[in-house]
Amino acid sequence: MNHHDDNSFQFNTLAIRSGHTRSFEGEHAEPIFLTSSFTYQSAAEAAAKFSGESAGNIYSRFTNPTVNTFEKRLAAMEGAERAVATSSGMAAIMAVAMTFLSQGDHVICSRAVFGSTIALFEKYIRKFGIDIDFVDLMDVSAWQNAMCSQTKLLFVESPSNPLSEVADIAALSQLAKQHGALLAIDNTICTPIFQRPLQLGADLVIYSGTKYLDGQGRTLGGAVLGSQALLEEVHGYVRTTGPSMSPFNAWVLLKGLETLRLRMMEHNRNALRLAEWLQQHPKVHAVHYAGLADHPSHALAKKQQTGFSGIVSFEVKGGREQAWTVIDQTQFISITGNLGDAKSTITHPATTTHGKLSVEAKQAAGISEALIRVSVGIEDINDIIHDLSRGLDLIAL
Ligand SMILES: *Cc1c(COP(=O)(O)O)cnc(C)c1O
Repeated sequence: MNHHDDNSFQFNTLAIRSGHTRSFEGEHAEPIFLTSSFTYQSAAEAAAKFSGESAGNIYSRFTNPTVNTFEKRLAAMEGAERAVATSSGMAAIMAVAMTFLSQGDHVICSRAVFGSTIALFEKYIRKFGIDIDFVDLMDVSAWQNAMCSQTKLLFVESPSNPLSEVADIAALSQLAKQHGALLAIDNTICTPIFQRPLQLGADLVIYSGTKYLDGQGRTLGGAVLGSQALLEEVHGYVRTTGPSMSPFNAWVLLKGLETLRLRMMEHNRNALRLAEWLQQHPKVHAVHYAGLADHPSHALAKKQQTGFSGIVSFEVKGGREQAWTVIDQTQFISITGNLGDAKSTITHPATTTHGKLSVEAKQAAGISEALIRVSVGIEDINDIIHDLSRGLDLIAL
């Protein structure tokens, strides 16, 4: 049944059919190969597999058929030559850093990245003699000014969370190429449904599969995608050091991919409806969603993305007390830091995801006490709006 890997299929078919080769059992759904190692018919076959003379599974830290199905399907959806799965999104970022950086190298990272990404570079990469600069993702000249002869990696999360700011990926790709550096894009928020960084010139795409790829809050997972040559190196790192994805988690994520497009279209639709509703609400001071025409990244987002995804942030009139009231008055929206779930989630960035930042750093990052982040789920949008209006109605002007 190798025609399932036929890349001439259209996107919707790839999302459902690619990556799986039916076994001799004739199974319809993709099987879960919960096995740590694999056996051989003979000592000679074992020797050939270990030497790399013949292809095949040896040990699940190296390869596993279920993990491989997930990797092939995600690569097909991204239009990438290859994907390597990891145990989490952070493991994917660490794999890129450890594979491609050496002592004396320099990294430029967008300032508004996931909190653990900053900690990963500052605490665990810097100590190996690798220098890191953080710059404003929207300001191409800041990236240009930060470049030096040691720069090996440009790391960007676009669009950013929670403010939905967008980096000019094609411009950063040109800059990276001029200096022989790699450009890695954390595409967790857009997924391949709304953005294909490789087509814009990026070298590597990174996912936290924990978010939209699973989309139902069940498992951690991650992936790195790109050319066969680069990913062969990433795979070498992962198979040796062990942040491999478990077969069960790969199966959960694989099933997530089958409905990814449907879910993303609905997240996108609901988020725009919510952003527009918030924008006209008298108790709302500002709304941050690139799908709105007055957002500073709207034009660029429209050019390089086919959707704006599901993260909407807004500032209430007032401060922490008013923001917490809106959060505490919700009845079904989950108060949790996670995002990208079918269930809507709500959080107060200043005291949770960005709570460790200094007052000045919060200010520089645009994280005010009045800011609320909603990861807009795929429940009925009128119910979501009603749940948020409970607290907003209580705010005194
Ligand atoms: C959650 C997240 C990560 C980290 O992923 P984990 O799966 O939690 O390790 C990295 N980047 C972005 C944009 C994220 O939202």
